[in-house]
Amino acid sequence: MTVFAAADFDGHEQVAFVHDRATGLRAIIAVHDTTLGPGAGGVRFWPYADDEVALADALRLSRGMTYKSALAGLPFGGGKSVIIGDPRRDKSPALMAAFGSAVDRLGGAYIAAEDVGTTVADMDAIATSTRHVAGTSATSGDPSPWTAFGVFEAIRAAVRFSLGRADGDVAGLTVALQGLGAVGFALARRLHDAGAHLVVADVRAEAVERAVAAFGARPADAENIHRVAADIFAPCALGAGLNDETIPVLGARIVAGSANNQLAAAHHGAMLARRGVLYAPDYVANAGGIVEVAYGSGFMGARGEDDIRRHVAGIHDTLLEIFARAGADGLPTAVVANRMAEARFRPGGARRAGAAA
Ligand code: NAD
Repeated sequence: MTVFAAADFDGHEQVAFVHDRATGLRAIIAVHDTTLGPGAGGVRFWPYADDEVALADALRLSRGMTYKSALAGLPFGGGKSVIIGDPRRDKSPALMAAFGSAVDRLGGAYIAAEDVGTTVADMDAIATSTRHVAGTSATSGDPSPWTAFGVFEAIRAAVRFSLGRADGDVAGLTVALQGLGAVGFALARRLHDAGAHLVVADVRAEAVERAVAAFGARPADAENIHRVAADIFAPCALGAGLNDETIPVLGARIVAGSANNQLAAAHHGAMLARRGVLYAPDYVANAGGIVEVAYGSGFMGARGEDDIRRHVAGIHDTLLEIFARAGADGLPTAVVANRMAEARFRPGGARRAGAAA
């Protein structure tokens, strides 16, 4: 296994490989960049097939956090960690506390938060060993509604830019929504309340039934939701949904959703642009959750809900700027977003080969 030469290494400041004999903990903590502040990012607990896949995930995700927090205007750098194992079988408060000790040894370079496979209770267990943790039961609440609000603002910005609706009004527009989980369902509610028509898909039939009953949504096949003729496609399930197979048959001219890493590969941003699809870069659209975590965990001073709302609503204007620059420079929106983020955390610095695209 190579580390410094790994495709995703991209100048990471620090990567810690952690093992705890007593609890069996095996984890990797990646800190990509701390120019703007500590590397904040989730703790992913996942049964990785092998160490190499786990390392690649940690590196890719921590780099993504640098870009996300920089463009969201937060005093955070980028970090992420992975715990190797099956959360249902291997997790224990003692193991999470041992992980907390490892976080503590980094002296604040990394701030742990919730991610796939970890919960608020796990953040509480980590907090028994370190203060460098966000999203405990004593601090912030559920970030998902804020993520949904940010995606709603992203959709409004795209509608305003590409459909010429001055106020970004979604009334009467059709949104094809993929994934009705914590974010997707909250987004569906906002869109419905604003007068949009919904076509929804989820691999969980009960989630679809709930959306049909609550919002009069039209159900669609999970395999084909991206093909549905709609004004907006909102991916709120898993990543890599925009790829060589799906892009040529996309049924919408706008893509804006919460899923992380929506582009299967960097060149898919250009492929979308060539097809005339306006893409709201994922880490810009879905930053509402990390904004809430920053406020809830005291990194923004003593501020209230109105401040969080104002900050998350800023996603709208950030995207308008990205769309305008992309149009003016003839570049994919994902490239413009990366460049704007890099200008914040690498002021004056050269773009490195392999940077997120
Ligand atoms: P979640 O697990 O609550 O919901 C995901 C939903 O997608 C589930 O209902 C699941 O059944 C469904 N799903 C899975 N595969 C599917 C498929 N092939 N087709 C259709 N539906 C499918 O997760 P969430 O918290 O709502 O997050 C959704 C996405 O947004 C994830 O990619 C997550 O990483 C990202 N995200 C979430 C937040 C947040 O605040 N929760 C913040 C930033 C990014």
